[in-house]
Amino acid sequence: MQWIRFQSSTGEVCHGLLEGETIRETAPLQGDWDLESIRETGRTFELATVKLLAPCQPSKVVCIGLNYRSHAEEVGLEMPKVPIIFLKPSTAVIGPLEKIIHPPQSRRVDYEAELAVVIGRRAHRVKAPQALDYVFGYTCGNDVTARDKQPARGQWTYAKGFDTFCPLGPVINTAIKDPEKLSIKGVLNGKTVQSGHTADHIFSVAELIEFISGCMTLLPGDVILTGTPAGIGPMQPGDTFSVTIDGIGTLTNTITSSN
Ligand code: MG
Repeated sequence: MQWIRFQSSTGEVCHGLLEGETIRETAPLQGDWDLESIRETGRTFELATVKLLAPCQPSKVVCIGLNYRSHAEEVGLEMPKVPIIFLKPSTAVIGPLEKIIHPPQSRRVDYEAELAVVIGRRAHRVKAPQALDYVFGYTCGNDVTARDKQPARGQWTYAKGFDTFCPLGPVINTAIKDPEKLSIKGVLNGKTVQSGHTADHIFSVAELIEFISGCMTLLPGDVILTGTPAGIGPMQPGDTFSVTIDGIGTLTNTITSSN
């Protein structure tokens, strides 16, 4: 299923299942997010009449640094022995077609196309063999980074935590069974600049959930950004960047210098 969050033409924020061009509205999910608890309201909307929003509102976005062999090679860094994690604040999240704001403090703002995991059940000290049972679905993410503010040694919160630096969407695909078998592409102004495959992950999604949930409890709607493949580079105001992942679709955002 393709699950979305959207704003109707009257300004109402709703959830729903997307089928072709039609949305079947569902009640907001409470407690654990699983397919059995999805309840349809009976209302339908046409996709063309609504504005898609970020498909979830995470309490935290946990991100993984250097999780593709190709990207570790491109930046000349050793393969990590344990996952490198950092957090993006919830205030960084934006939806499809919303603008990424190039902050005045930075002279280089980069795109990073990433697979985003959306958690469905409270996960505390989960082991890898069971970890995918805690996933609600998958969406596209862009780990936008003020590269000139990212220290080689030291933490990355400032460089990656600016408002609008976490585009997510357009849908959460709940039917993906194996997150290690997905093609991922980043396209800057129509030109493919990142072309990767999740089989190149250094740590699998299941291993990441074990590692992260051993430290912090993951809640329904929380997001894990799983790292970016080779091909990172800068975006200028006026540029458009798209992330496309098999079965999920395309997340597109433009960058602007104005607030
Ligand atoms: Mg990244």
